[in-house]
Amino acid sequence: MDEILGQVLRNAVWERLDVLTELADRADAPSLLSVARSELPRLTEGWRALLTAHEPDERGHCPECSTRWRQRKAPCSVWRSAYEHLVAGGLAPRPARHLRPAHMVRTAVPVP
Ligand SMILES: [Zn+2]
Repeated sequence: MDEILGQVLRNAVWERLDVLTELADRADAPSLLSVARSELPRLTEGWRALLTAHEPDERGHCPECSTRWRQRKAPCSVWRSAYEHLVAGGLAPRPARHLRPAHMVRTAVPVP
């Protein structure tokens, strides 16, 4: 893909994200429901396709993020980003404490 086509593609994606953000901020309830029904399945399918491409191989390396010279251990940045935005970001209910990764479990700090 040449540079101009890459820029056109990126701009189209940014503009689409801007439209969705604008709709989420300003659309009335019936419009928002309609957008949610049409766009949520597209977004979830897009995430699924992306994550499928980044599934670790049998040795625990991401086939998309790895190169011939450097193997990238899973979870790669795509999986970490998915977790951050879809799970830790509050879209999904918080997993039970024993199911959360260690970095998410915070110990309570006593109030002085
Ligand atoms: Zn990857």
